[in-house]
Amino acid sequence: MIDTRRRRLLQAFAAGSAGLLPGPAWLHAQALPRNVLARPTFDRDPFTLGVASGEPASDGFVLWTRLAPQPLEQGGGMVMKPVVVTWEIAQDDAFRLIVRTGETLAHPELAHSVHVEVEGLAPARPYWYRFVVGDAVSPVGRSATLPASDARVDRVRFAVAGCQHYEEGHYTAWRRIAEEPLDFVFHYGDYIYEGPDRGSGERRMNGRPFTPLRRHVGEEIYSLDDYRRRHALYRGDRDLQAAHASAPWFVSFDDHEIDNNWAGDSDQDGTPRELFLLRRAVGMQAFYEHMPLRRASLPVDGAMRMHRRAGFGDLLQAHFLDTRQYRSDQANGDRDAAQDAVARAPERSMLGREQERWLHDGLRPDHHRWHVIAQQVGLANLAMQPRGPGSDVVYSMDQWSGYLANRRRLLGHIEQSGMKNVVTVSGDAHRHFASDLLQDGEESKVISSEFLATSITSGSDGIGEDDDFTRTTRSLNPHLKAMVDKRGYALCDVTRETWTAELKVLDRVMVPDEPVKVHARFAIEHGRPGMQRG
Ligand code: FE
Ligand code: CA
Repeated sequence: MIDTRRRRLLQAFAAGSAGLLPGPAWLHAQALPRNVLARPTFDRDPFTLGVASGEPASDGFVLWTRLAPQPLEQGGGMVMKPVVVTWEIAQDDAFRLIVRTGETLAHPELAHSVHVEVEGLAPARPYWYRFVVGDAVSPVGRSATLPASDARVDRVRFAVAGCQHYEEGHYTAWRRIAEEPLDFVFHYGDYIYEGPDRGSGERRMNGRPFTPLRRHVGEEIYSLDDYRRRHALYRGDRDLQAAHASAPWFVSFDDHEIDNNWAGDSDQDGTPRELFLLRRAVGMQAFYEHMPLRRASLPVDGAMRMHRRAGFGDLLQAHFLDTRQYRSDQANGDRDAAQDAVARAPERSMLGREQERWLHDGLRPDHHRWHVIAQQVGLANLAMQPRGPGSDVVYSMDQWSGYLANRRRLLGHIEQSGMKNVVTVSGDAHRHFASDLLQDGEESKVISSEFLATSITSGSDGIGEDDDFTRTTRSLNPHLKAMVDKRGYALCDVTRETWTAELKVLDRVMVPDEPVKVHARFAIEHGRPGMQRG
């Protein structure tokens, strides 16, 4: 708990002495550590991992960077002391009019990452930011505040992206996102992949030959330093850095930030719970260290709070979910399967009881024109043809199709609330899927729609839509309006009357600098659930 009187004194002191407001109160509420390095010097650029902003509100956002002159070396090449970092926010990209500045600490406990929660800015306008440490100056990032909660807003544009396996392609899709005029980016997860470097040779991926474009460093990651080095490897990419620097992000983790298809307190290998929780804790810490998150998301006792909301004036209310941390273990050993009694069991949950209650509390008809549920794994309940013999259809046990009771409650809640303005965005499947959402077994009434965005790179160059899996999945699921195996992202352009979604694709990610194309465009009219090709 922050001592508010001390906080005001400090603010008054800082404002009086420098004419400026200080950094986050939690930092200034404590004395500088005795081991602080007040005047650091660097013989290499400490800003190799770029800058980022996130969690925008109507009066501010989070600024992020991490000091790492040698990002793949132990400690990122830093002196193991807390380091004072100065931040600046300006109304213009040339920094002629600086409106806020302050100092913060990059702690060795957090890999010398910096998280500044800026307050007191004007709503609905862009700002530019940078950091200074010693005589090093960071690249400039652009962020923006949200409109005031009661403001009339006519348009919001955002990208939905994730699944960025480093070995499997260029991050050109991030470069294209950086070139889009966006209000924010939603990252649905799989920011890193935890697997080992598997060598430079040709191997098979998705049934096709594949030679890595670039390589992971080291074995599968388990220790905090392993996770930090993996984040640093990914974050060194210039296209990814450009996207971070272009707009504020809302991030979430999915499975690969920790381990493939983990669920709550269990991994996929049957590791003892208490051991997996140690790994989960360090994976979460490294994730926090590398993301522009608020202090409310700082991991505590091996858990972190990631479900939260953001409002864009009266146009859009966003509900960001966490579909990993509180879920029940997957049914059927996580193999694609028929939806048996376990997949339907009411006590099994995707969200956990507390988050489900929180979501239903906030998901009600109100003054917002639209609500978006921004989450990680598919809600669409897609039937698939089994790979082996037999004719019964199967479903993913890792997606909402393996948590049917929770899915029924969510769609039932939207329907019973009379909401006809809810759209869902998600990812994880390494393909674009655009689907209307219906209750299972009630194939007549459209309740909502889902735009599941394809991967940035995972799966490498795609095969398009002319393959057996796509054809059979399309024929088994009439509510599935588009499906394509290409890399890219989804772009949502939301106005008061229409929600337009473009499924953007790149033909290749194994060569650099491909152009982006629109594979399909859909529109949802306000008050009329269901998407139309447009
Ligand atoms: Fe993925
Ligand atoms: Ca995933």
